[in-house]
Amino acid sequence: MTHVTRRANRLALPAIFAIALLGGCATGGHVPGNIHFHKERLTQYHESGNYERDIAKVADDANAWLAQRLKTPGKHAVVFDIDETALSNWPSIKANDFGWITGGDCKISDKGEVSKPCGLGPWIRMGRAEAIKPVLAVYQTARKMGADVFFITGRPDLPAFREATEKNLRAAGFTEWAGLHLKPTGQKLDTIAYKSGERKRIESEGWKVVASVGDQQSDLDGGYAERVFLVPNPFYYVP
Ligand SMILES: [Mg+2]
Repeated sequence: MTHVTRRANRLALPAIFAIALLGGCATGGHVPGNIHFHKERLTQYHESGNYERDIAKVADDANAWLAQRLKTPGKHAVVFDIDETALSNWPSIKANDFGWITGGDCKISDKGEVSKPCGLGPWIRMGRAEAIKPVLAVYQTARKMGADVFFITGRPDLPAFREATEKNLRAAGFTEWAGLHLKPTGQKLDTIAYKSGERKRIESEGWKVVASVGDQQSDLDGGYAERVFLVPNPFYYVP
């Protein structure tokens, strides 16, 4: 650093602090970005196809792993989460403008228009969610190579949800599974404890979980999977 630039820095720093201080006074100093623009970015991310392309990159890794790993003989299991992993709830997310609305009603017109809002519970019970295609391809790789598939979901284990989930999975192309684990109602376990506990149970029954695929870190943490694959989901968070 030359003498001249050191001197310039000595002059500049107080000026920067002064500007920051004034800016802080004017705005409160800690105003987060406006939510409207973040919603716009999320919508653009989904509708541009970048969301699905990013999922496809993760799915490619999962397919490559399974193609290699499932060559080895054994009783192998591949575990999938459901929401925003196997199935997309985008019509409900969009209709709710990124609000987490679980109750209320949801209607779909003859033209396929989704009511605003569209409660997540009623939406799920309609069984209209479409497959997330790159993940469907991972499912197909698993089945083709002889692995058994398990779904472990935070959806409540109630008859209406189980029936709708089975119907929806089949309609979306996930046609068979060795287990569909919905979360027992009233269970106090958090997601990591619940999901890793279910994987532990699958392994105690003789399977080796070679891959676990989910859209939340909480789908994947807690062990009992050789490899985990996290597909992007910037639309909501499940701790
Ligand atoms: Mg999910």
